[in-house]
Amino acid sequence: MPLPALTGLDPDALAEWLKAENEPSFRAAQILEWVWKKKAASFDAMSNLPAALRGKLAESFRLSALEHTYTQGSADTTRKFLFRLHDGRYVESVLIPANPALYGEKSDRRTLCVSSQVGCAYGCKFCASGLDGFTRNLDASEIVSQVIAAEQISGERVDNLVFMGMGEPLANLNHLLAAIALITGEKTLQLGARHLTISTSGLVPQIRELATHPQQIRLAISLHGATDEVRQQIMPVNKKWPVAELFDALDFWNSKKGQKLTLEYILIDGVNDSPEQATILARHARRTQAKVNLIPYNTVEGLDWKRPSDARCRAFREILKTAGVTANLRLEKGGDIDAACGQLRLKQETKEGIIGSP
Ligand code: SF4
Repeated sequence: MPLPALTGLDPDALAEWLKAENEPSFRAAQILEWVWKKKAASFDAMSNLPAALRGKLAESFRLSALEHTYTQGSADTTRKFLFRLHDGRYVESVLIPANPALYGEKSDRRTLCVSSQVGCAYGCKFCASGLDGFTRNLDASEIVSQVIAAEQISGERVDNLVFMGMGEPLANLNHLLAAIALITGEKTLQLGARHLTISTSGLVPQIRELATHPQQIRLAISLHGATDEVRQQIMPVNKKWPVAELFDALDFWNSKKGQKLTLEYILIDGVNDSPEQATILARHARRTQAKVNLIPYNTVEGLDWKRPSDARCRAFREILKTAGVTANLRLEKGGDIDAACGQLRLKQETKEGIIGSP
């Protein structure tokens, strides 16, 4: 087993470790500052720590839970980072420089899309992450390290986080909540919970559980079909938790949380983009006071759906707008750099023979 990563250690656990090592307690604040604020690249860079303590830290911990291996994209566009984990697996994070249409944030903001699992068991039909099934959950340090690494590489502060990368975050709820505690902690990354959005394919029990979590985290639902008949062609999870159960859980969410829900809806030509689906979607959105993000389908290698014409996308949005629903139609950023989740990792693992080998 690899050494634990310092980025997975909460401040209390760090204080305990220092006590056990007979180190003064004030060292905790210094180490936390190096890890979370200054984002030190090595233990040696922690210049106000005695060499002996740096040595003990290096014997007991890794600094980060992942290694940056590749960046796709450039500084003023969407950038995709590929990270290698201790077991040779890969995950990816996508840094989106401005995304005004997505969550209503100002246009000078940076949103990081983070992975929560290696692979995914849910097999949504538009998504490359599920093509080779599920491998394992990420632990808290592997989730958090993506944020720290993205800030280190870009030299920019991440303003918003979306758990929308590889994996179903709510299928990894315990590690996800431990990561969120570190991301939002006053002594750690200090990002406000309101700047965090969890995107789920619709795991009803976990939505209900998360609804009672005290922090005002945002929730986005990968809906992609307004009726069971259409949705289950795209989202196999719908067989387990059909549309009616999902929206009951969203009513419960609304009874507990003050944040507006988002319904994500990828428009796929001839599959889910009919006026009837738009009308029913508008009903769901009004019932849950949700806004709708319409995303024209982005071609995925190996899958054969098509993107609808712009006119058809606009007509779909008009039905929602006429019904009084806030609906964004966005041209997907980063479509030219494999930004659909899981594509870059899939290519790398296939190249190395991790995926596809007998
Ligand atoms: S969209 Fe999300 S839940 Fe669905 S297969 Fe892809 S990673 Fe998994």
